[in-house]
Amino acid sequence: MTDSSQAGPAITLAGVNLSLGQGAARVHILKDISLHIGTGEAIGLIGPSGSGKSTLLMVMAGLEQADSGTVTVAGENLTGLDEDALARFRGRNIGIVFQSFHLIPTMTALENVAVPMELTGAPDAQERAREELVAVGLGARLNHYPAQLSGGEQQRVAVARALAPNPAILVADEPTGNLDEDTGKQIVDLLFEGQARRNTTLVLVTHDAGLARRCGRTVRLRSGRIDGE
Ligand code: ADP
Ligand code: MG
Repeated sequence: MTDSSQAGPAITLAGVNLSLGQGAARVHILKDISLHIGTGEAIGLIGPSGSGKSTLLMVMAGLEQADSGTVTVAGENLTGLDEDALARFRGRNIGIVFQSFHLIPTMTALENVAVPMELTGAPDAQERAREELVAVGLGARLNHYPAQLSGGEQQRVAVARALAPNPAILVADEPTGNLDEDTGKQIVDLLFEGQARRNTTLVLVTHDAGLARRCGRTVRLRSGRIDGE
């Protein structure tokens, strides 16, 4: 295994600003954010509702472009990349888990995991999808549709989908927010297991102080600024 301290930061943000919305509804959300996150590090991103946690996650994941500042993730400078280049960057490097699962309802569990990998040209997508679903405990649910699965099972599919391509960076936005406490803990266990197994960098947004403490490091946002660690 490589020594993560030699690999340099997985995520570097320097002086990042971002506004979203049009005209009078435009909101300056991220304000002069600078942050280094090391390879293999797990950080908990906390802060009040509306403080910019989800927006910051989107910038790290290449789903939003900063208005100013620089964003370097997994060795790629995202500044100025067009939509196609960003999509390729995400496919190669980023696994994402959302609060509300975001599975495709017309696809089985296996298809939800395999099809995104097939779209990036992975030759063994079906086999890797199957292995990852078995690893999250869903070996007996491969051909179920999301509506036939519980919330916890749906989030397991989402975790398998995020981890199957072996992303450098795993981001999770309140992944336990729609689950009961026990089920949420199982999902977080899977995220940490997946992270540790691969030396993946994990950024976990959470309201839950106990959950944040499970990360090696906690970063707090307030009104779009970093408000301490
Ligand atoms: P958090 O995840 O910490 O709750 P968000 O990043 O979702 O915060 O949002 C931060 C602020 O930015 C909120 O005030 C929210 O209303 C605003 N916001 C988020 N997305 C948009 C958007 N697309 N257009 C305008 N304002 C937005
Ligand atoms: Mg949010």
